Amino acid sequence: MAANQRELVAKCMGMLYQRGLVTATGGNVSARNDDRTFYVTPTSLLKGEITAETVSLIDFDGNVLEGLHKPSSEWRMHASIYRAFPDVNYVVHAHPTYALALLRRGLGFAPLTEEAGILLADGVGVVERMTPGTWEFAEAVASSMKGHKAVLIKDHGAVTVGKDCVEAFARMDVLEQNSKIAVLWHSLE
Ligand code: 13P
Ligand code: ZN
Repeated sequence: MAANQRELVAKCMGMLYQRGLVTATGGNVSARNDDRTFYVTPTSLLKGEITAETVSLIDFDGNVLEGLHKPSSEWRMHASIYRAFPDVNYVVHAHPTYALALLRRGLGFAPLTEEAGILLADGVGVVERMTPGTWEFAEAVASSMKGHKAVLIKDHGAVTVGKDCVEAFARMDVLEQNSKIAVLWHSLE
């Protein structure tokens, strides 16, 4: 089971990288293990090169229980979300270009496709720009996630959650696809 969880976390990061949703060094993925531990991608490795062996099991205080690599610098954000939302089993953090462009332009996210209407039916929260990796940042993201399954962070990225990898990944993918449609649509006006 544990090996499968590690593989799935690494695979999810690989898909984010292939879809251009993360940068070379930006973005992280985690999967809840139980009510006090989760698997998380490593920091300081290229996102296109993350394998199951580099994924660590850590607790909500950042202690590494299994794994040889230093966990993501955003572990506090993942821990804060798991603590606040017992139904969340997966957290995806990416740096999606079009979603960030819309936010920078001051335009709110709107679900334009049928798929987005379903996957992002609860709307998208927004967090102001703040120092990544801190408890302040972690708690701001978790509190903006209340009532939503996705949050945009100004000049930084986005976070999506789900009951599994498919839901969390699909939400990030459709968030960016709908942002791209909005940017193209505005540019055609
Ligand atoms: P890590 O490489 O430490 O996971 O951090 C990437 C990131 O997106 C910081 O916000
Ligand atoms: Zn980030």
